Amino acid sequence: MEIVPGIRSIGQRNGAYVHAFLLDDGEGLMLIDTLYDTDAHRILDEISSMGRTIHDLKHIIMTHAHRSHLGGLARLHELSGAPVYAHEWEADLIAGERKAQCVARRPYPPYRTWPLQIALNLGVSKHPPIQVEHFVHDGDQIGPVQVVFAPGHSPGHLAFYWPERRTLIAGDAICTWPSFRLGWKGFMLNPKQHRKSVHHLAEFDCEILCVGHGEPIAANAAAMIRTALPSLD
Ligand SMILES: [Zn+2]
Ligand SMILES: [Zn+2]
Repeated sequence: MEIVPGIRSIGQRNGAYVHAFLLDDGEGLMLIDTLYDTDAHRILDEISSMGRTIHDLKHIIMTHAHRSHLGGLARLHELSGAPVYAHEWEADLIAGERKAQCVARRPYPPYRTWPLQIALNLGVSKHPPIQVEHFVHDGDQIGPVQVVFAPGHSPGHLAFYWPERRTLIAGDAICTWPSFRLGWKGFMLNPKQHRKSVHHLAEFDCEILCVGHGEPIAANAAAMIRTALPSLD
């Protein structure tokens, strides 16, 4: 589904309504996150539906290294040859050299995320591992987007901003499933860092908000984020 010109949202129910984003700035395609499926079929179908081929995919960027977002990464890299970008603190997880840090064991709202907390802590599903070729940092430019370091949910969590589209891609720092929230409390490895990151994300004058779990927000996103900030206090 095209949200605004050049930005497509691709979602699936598995992985807690996880979403990936396919960006087209006229130079080539760029993918942010890779959904849960290891065969990447939903992303491949979306690229075909645009009349494009996998060889048009030029960059694959990861918001962070949680299983829901990593499923299709190895397959898409193998098919496209596109370089993989992530923050260096997520790279060893992506390479399969370390397990993701455990999150809270007890339930926190929204309670529908509790089974996911348990699954992550037990490491019940593994992604096909892959080496990250490029480490990226706050302020870097990749294709049309600028990188925004937004740790807290995980240590190397990244968000992205496309100024010309007034679109913020917030990863798991903000979610809209099962409802709009400034992150899932049971998954915050560092709540203080997360709070600081979301306050920073609230400074962007975004109209559109794309999140890791749930449907995108199509209008007035900055106001929604700013209004919700006291919920982190
Ligand atoms: Zn996550
Ligand atoms: Zn996630």
